[in-house]
Amino acid sequence: MQYRCPKCQSPKIMPVAQAGSPAVRPVVPKSLVFLIPAVFILLLLVLISIAMWIFGDGAGSTLQVATVVAFIICVIAGFLFYRDLPDFKISMQGFMQSQKKWKCRECNHEWEI
Ligand SMILES: [Zn+2]
Repeated sequence: MQYRCPKCQSPKIMPVAQAGSPAVRPVVPKSLVFLIPAVFILLLLVLISIAMWIFGDGAGSTLQVATVVAFIICVIAGFLFYRDLPDFKISMQGFMQSQKKWKCRECNHEWEI
């Protein structure tokens, strides 16, 4: 199994959609679906808090509670994702191996395995 372009050895390769055969998608764990927006919300709340500390009299108590809640959700989702990680890896490997056609983003070289 090659994860590099055979022409320029770049690791920046992407699978090419195969016509006719059903696309095999890796099974994305629910914890990851949950974790990504949670991390975004946390980052947003932290940024708003920092902005309020700089430009105002500090973050309001509602914002502080929201930030703490978002942080706790992130920790829980992170923990769940950590537990799902082995299954996710296997699923991703299956997806990578089922993919026969690849394209290099560096030199546009296409090849089949
Ligand atoms: Zn290449």
